[in-house]
Amino acid sequence: MNDDVDLFVIGGGSGGVRAARIAAGYGARVMLAEEYRVGGTCVIRGCVPKKLMVYAGRFADEFEDAAGFGWSVEKPRFDWSVLKARRDAEVTRLEGIYDANLIRAGVEIAPERAVIEDAHTVRLLKSGRSIRAERILVAVGAHPVKEPAVPGAEFTITSNEVFELDRLPERILVVGGGYIAVEFAGVFAALGSRTSLLHRGDKLLRGFDDDVRDALAEAYTKRMDLRLGRTLSRIERRPSGLCAILDDGGEVEADQILLATGRRPNIAGLGLDRVGIVPDAAGAIPVDAFSRTIVPSIFAVGDVTNRANLTPVAIREGHAFADTEYGGKPTSVDHHLIPTAVFSTPEIGTVGLSEAAARQSCERIDVYKASFRPMKATLSGRDERVLMKIIVDCASDRVLGVHLFGQDAGELIQAVGIAVTMGATKADFDRTIAVHPTAAEELVTMR
Ligand code: NDP
Repeated sequence: MNDDVDLFVIGGGSGGVRAARIAAGYGARVMLAEEYRVGGTCVIRGCVPKKLMVYAGRFADEFEDAAGFGWSVEKPRFDWSVLKARRDAEVTRLEGIYDANLIRAGVEIAPERAVIEDAHTVRLLKSGRSIRAERILVAVGAHPVKEPAVPGAEFTITSNEVFELDRLPERILVVGGGYIAVEFAGVFAALGSRTSLLHRGDKLLRGFDDDVRDALAEAYTKRMDLRLGRTLSRIERRPSGLCAILDDGGEVEADQILLATGRRPNIAGLGLDRVGIVPDAAGAIPVDAFSRTIVPSIFAVGDVTNRANLTPVAIREGHAFADTEYGGKPTSVDHHLIPTAVFSTPEIGTVGLSEAAARQSCERIDVYKASFRPMKATLSGRDERVLMKIIVDCASDRVLGVHLFGQDAGELIQAVGIAVTMGATKADFDRTIAVHPTAAEELVTMR
């Protein structure tokens, strides 16, 4: 049977859903295939359920901190099964909203795997249907890899299975030093698991500003067993649980070992070879600023293109694609200044160049830095500091980067990101009147 659509979207994650809805809104006949659950990594097993777990973990600090303000809180108890059930229900609710929004926009959803047959044909594997499409958008995302592939790696889990755990592990080892490792190590430590974080580098979060990386390591050292500059040699199953043996001979016993060592584009079996699209070394689909592949009728957005693997970026890419191809508004996406947050506890917010990157690209820079004990800590007694850093190009006075470490850094960096995107200068920051008493006022009072 042959169906004809204007646009066939493969993948119902953030990028694919946005592109499908906007294109349909412009009058295109759109079909979208999703083999797992509409919503994709972000909604189903990424940002959303992760952030709910981050919130859950942070109550532990709040209970402790409350004592300094006169509250007496009985020893709090945490029930993993309640959190899991409520989190999963919320994910299902959001999945329903995504589904409903697509249907309301007039998008036909095919709940099955789709592969590319030729430049204008998609094949649905379960129903066996072939769909002719004027354009095909590949938005299939990425999956976690199990690396390093050491003996015993089969005993480990990834960020997919972590959401399925039926109980809070008493002991967990997290391997990796990127967003996912840092966030989950923070979550499990806060919820009460004895947590170890193992990373091969000397600092966590490669690419972030070094002062922020140091501040995170200092804070995490107080919250967990942090092992930097070490690698995993093998994993053994022992009567007492899993045991990770490290390159220095050290051992870490754990009930769960979470490998959070990166993600790869979901291109296996997709049919890219049938249309002559050659993935790059990272397995990603090469595209231009308008998300065009080398095949004129095939486009790709989101993590499968490995540009900036962040939900809001995929959404922007999907929207820009639809505006360009169906709305008569050619729109490219600027991947240059992307505000982002890491939901560690304390959290990180960052936009623009790190000090090291700025030194490489500018002749002279000024660095403004404030490290202080937040006001709340004066009574709570919590031994943690806030770090704020502004990087300025001396020649133009433009703010090149802002790096925050501390409570609500993710919320703050969104607003700071507007200023930096607009091209704010340090003088603009300086003439902004402070909001007092806040931690954020340091941003406009640093001299
Ligand atoms: P990342 O690529 O950010 O980090 C992977 C980490 O694993 C790095 O620390 C890397 O070390 C390490 N690593 C890679 N291979 C090996 C190996 N063979 N042995 C030991 N260590 C290894 O991936 P993540 O999985 O953390 O996250 C994937 C993407 O998801 C991120 O790029 C991010 O864009 C996105 N994300 C965003 C979030 C947010 O916005 N808050 C939250 C979660 C994910 P090294 O640095 O030495 O290479």
